[in-house]
Amino acid sequence: MSTQKGNNTRSRPQKHQNKSSFKNSLHDTSHRTKFINNIQVSDVCTRCKDVIEWKIKYKKYKPLTQPKKCVKCEQKTVRKAYHVMCRDCGKKLSVCTKCCQSKEIIPAPPDQEEQLKLDKELQVLLQSLSERKRRTFLRYMNKKEKDLGETSEQKKDDLVKKLNELNVKDDSEFGDLDDDDDYNDEEDVSD
Ligand SMILES: [Zn+2]
Ligand SMILES: [Zn+2]
Repeated sequence: MSTQKGNNTRSRPQKHQNKSSFKNSLHDTSHRTKFINNIQVSDVCTRCKDVIEWKIKYKKYKPLTQPKKCVKCEQKTVRKAYHVMCRDCGKKLSVCTKCCQSKEIIPAPPDQEEQLKLDKELQVLLQSLSERKRRTFLRYMNKKEKDLGETSEQKKDDLVKKLNELNVKDDSEFGDLDDDDDYNDEEDVSD
């Protein structure tokens, strides 16, 4: 084989060729890797974005276990690993929150901000519901999550409508709101 003397020329093609590019989730499907792979690098300059994305891709990324002190406002407001400044300070000064230089900054994707707003709004509404209605709503929401192709805007409208609907109806009418038949399914709505 390859130890054969005097045979330095390879006559066969390389045995294991890479069919696809490096994929860090190939053998690791843990939540941690999934979580890290889903990180949207933002509020940094393009160069710092590349650096952080490289770390994510090659599994060098280490998420923060607790918020770090911002170099500007000195509050524990830095939630993203490798960033040294919090988002607010970065925005105020229009600088990269990693290298602190004023360059062109990658903004957070709008749907991410939208999602945060949505969550907060829904949480407030949720708190106004009784425990029972809350569970119904959560079940409804989980179901909705499975409906692909719905934009976050549509989803939000729908969920807010549903919440208001639950709020107005009293418990006696509650039963005919939706899916009575699977009412006993999925008792555990939390994940
Ligand atoms: Zn700050
Ligand atoms: Zn930077």
